Amino acid sequence: MTIPRRKFDTLVIGAGGAGLRAALELSQADARVAVVSKVFPTRSHTVAAQGGVNASLANVTDDNWHWHMFDTVKGSDYLGDQDAIEYMCREAPRVVYELEHIGVPFSRLENGKIYQRPFGGQSQNFGGDQATRTCAAADRTGHAIIHALYQQNIAARTHFFDEYFSVDLISDDDGYILGALVVDIATGEPLVIEAKTTLIATGGAAQIFRTSTNAHINTGDGMGMALRAGIPLQDMEFFQFHPTGIAGKGMLITEAARGEGGYLINGNGERFMPNYAPKAKDLASRDVVSRAIATEIREGRGCGPDKDHILLKVDHLGKDVVHKRLPGICDLTRSFLNIDPAEQPIPVFPTAHYTMGGIPTNRFGQVVVPVSSGPEEEVPGLYAAGECACVSIHGANRLGGNSLLDILVFGRSSANHIMEYLAENQHHRDLPESAVEKTMQRLQRWDKKGEGESVASLRNKLKLVMEEHCGVFRTESVLKEGLQKVVELEKRLPDVRLTDHSQQFNTARIEALELENLMDVAIATICAALGRKESRGAHSRIDYPERNDVNWLKHSLFYKKERQLDFKPVHTKPLSVETFPPKERVY
Ligand SMILES: Cc1cc2nc3c(=O)[nH]c(=O)nc-3n(C[C@H](O)[C@H](O)[C@H](O)COP(=O)(O)OP(=O)(O)OC[C@H]3O[C@@H](n4cnc5c(N)ncnc54)[C@H](O)[C@@H]3O)c2cc1C
Repeated sequence: MTIPRRKFDTLVIGAGGAGLRAALELSQADARVAVVSKVFPTRSHTVAAQGGVNASLANVTDDNWHWHMFDTVKGSDYLGDQDAIEYMCREAPRVVYELEHIGVPFSRLENGKIYQRPFGGQSQNFGGDQATRTCAAADRTGHAIIHALYQQNIAARTHFFDEYFSVDLISDDDGYILGALVVDIATGEPLVIEAKTTLIATGGAAQIFRTSTNAHINTGDGMGMALRAGIPLQDMEFFQFHPTGIAGKGMLITEAARGEGGYLINGNGERFMPNYAPKAKDLASRDVVSRAIATEIREGRGCGPDKDHILLKVDHLGKDVVHKRLPGICDLTRSFLNIDPAEQPIPVFPTAHYTMGGIPTNRFGQVVVPVSSGPEEEVPGLYAAGECACVSIHGANRLGGNSLLDILVFGRSSANHIMEYLAENQHHRDLPESAVEKTMQRLQRWDKKGEGESVASLRNKLKLVMEEHCGVFRTESVLKEGLQKVVELEKRLPDVRLTDHSQQFNTARIEALELENLMDVAIATICAALGRKESRGAHSRIDYPERNDVNWLKHSLFYKKERQLDFKPVHTKPLSVETFPPKERVY
C-alpha cells in the first residue's frame, strides 16, 4: 500500500505554545510549515496555564535578568545548564513584549504597565527579598497566549493538520529525520509528512501518574517517538509535583493563590510553611512545599476526617482580590468542590504537574546526543522545544512561571536555527519507501482487536503503580518493585482489547498508541529514579537524603534499548557572567 505524502519545509508536531511560537516565526519568514496536533490547537495544555510567565520587567519591584538567572539556577538545584538559563532569562522581557504586541491582553497595573505577581523561588539581589516577576493575564495567562499565537499563525498562513496523530518519526539510513507518519484521527487514514526539518513540541507526560494537573492528552508521545528513534531521554527522574492540586481530583490551584497572599494550614489550623522555609514561607520552591505537605500528612497533621490533605487559605484576602485576580480558581473550586475560595479554604494535595526531563537539546532547539567518538552530536533535521524537551533550564526543579517562558524562548530560538538549516539545505532528501514501511509497522500492529483487558483498564493500572512507587518520596525497594510491576504491565500491552471503547475502533487505537508512549516514559522515569542515588530538587530519595555534588552533579540519559542509563556533564559555564557554584539550597 502506498501512503499519500505531503511535503513541507518544516513539520511541527504539537500546537501548544512551543509549537505555535516556532511556527509563527517560520511562517512569517515564508517557510512552508505544517503543524500537526492531535487536538484542535487552542485545546493544547498551554491553554490551562494559569499564573503567568516570568520576565524581569521590574514593573513592581526592582529586577534584572541576572537575578532571574540566579533564582532559576538555584531552583534547578544546580542541575540546570547555565548557558541556556542565561539565554532564557535575557530573552524573557523581549518575548513578553512580543506577546503584548501580538495581542495578549495582560492584566495591568494602575500606571498601565503589565501586571506582575510574586511567585515561588523569586528573589531580588541573588537571594534577598521576594521579587515580583510573573507577568499575568488574571489567572488565565495560557489561554490568552495560545489564542493570540493561534490567530497570528492563521494570519501568517501556517498549514494546520488538526486532529492528526503523529505515530513515529521517519529517518533515512544516514540518520536524517525526514518527517513523520501521522494518522487522521477521524478516518484512521495514514499520511506521510515529508519535511526538511522536524520540531517535536508535544508537551509533557504527567499522565503517567493517577492524579495529575495535566490534560488527558499529555501522554509523552514525542518522548516515546524519540526513544523509539534511538534518542535517549534526559533527567526523567525529575517530575514536578505541584503542591496545590485539588485533593483527590488533581486540578491545579495556581501558585498565584499564594503569590496573592494565600497560605497553607494543617489539621491543627497552623501555618506550617515557616517551619520548613523560614524566609520564603509559602512561596518556597515547589519541591520544598510539596515535601512539607507530604511530611505534615505523614506525621498525622493532615486535614479532614482521614487527615489526608492540607488547606489553602485565601479567604482572608477579601472577595475583591480573590474574584478579580483569581477568577479561574473560583470557577474550578465552584465546579469541582462547590465552594467559593473567598469564603472557605481549599483542600489541596501535591499532584503530578510537570516533566522536567525530556528530549535532550541545546539552546537552539537542536536534538543532541552523545556519541562514542566525541562529546555530543546533533541529530540532523531534528529539533525539540517546550515541555517535551530538556534544554536543560529547569534542572531538578522548575520554578513557577518559567515554563511558559521556556516554550516561548526556545520555540523562537528553534525556529531561528531551523531557518539557518533551511538556508543551507534547500532540497528535500530522498525518502525511501522502505523507511515509510518500517514506520507503518507500528501502526499495523494495532490493526487487530486484541483479546485482553481494555486500554483504559491497563492505563489506570500503570498510573496507580507510578503514583504508589514513584511519587514525592522514593526508596530503592519501592522503586524496584514499581519497575517490576510496570514491566509486567507492559507485557500485557500487545493483547489489549480495542473494541469496547464507545464502539469506536479509531479512538481505542489512538489510545493504545498513547499507552505505548506512557509505558515508555514511565519506565524511563523509574529507571532514572532508581539510578540517581541522591536527593536533588524534585527527586527525593529517603535512602539517600542528601544532595551529592561530587558524584551526581550530572544529567542522566535513559535509552530504550536494554533500558540503559548513561550520564553527561552539566554545563556550569554561562555565556557572559560568572558561574553560580552549587550552594546549600535554603528558602
Ligand atoms: C494546569 C496547568 C497550569 C500551568 N500553569 C503554568 C503557569 O502559570 N506558568 C508557567 O510557566 N507554566 C505553567 N504550566 C506549565 C506550562 O503550561 C506547560 O509546560 C506548557 O504550556 C507546555 O507547552 P508545550 O507547547 O510544550 O506543550 P502543550 O501545550 O502541552 O502542547 C502539546 C501539543 O502537542 C500535541 N501532541 C501531543 N502528542 C501528539 C501526537 N502524538 N500527535 C500530534 N500532536 C500531538 C498536542 O495536541 C498539543 O497541541 C501549567 C501547566 C498546567 C498543566
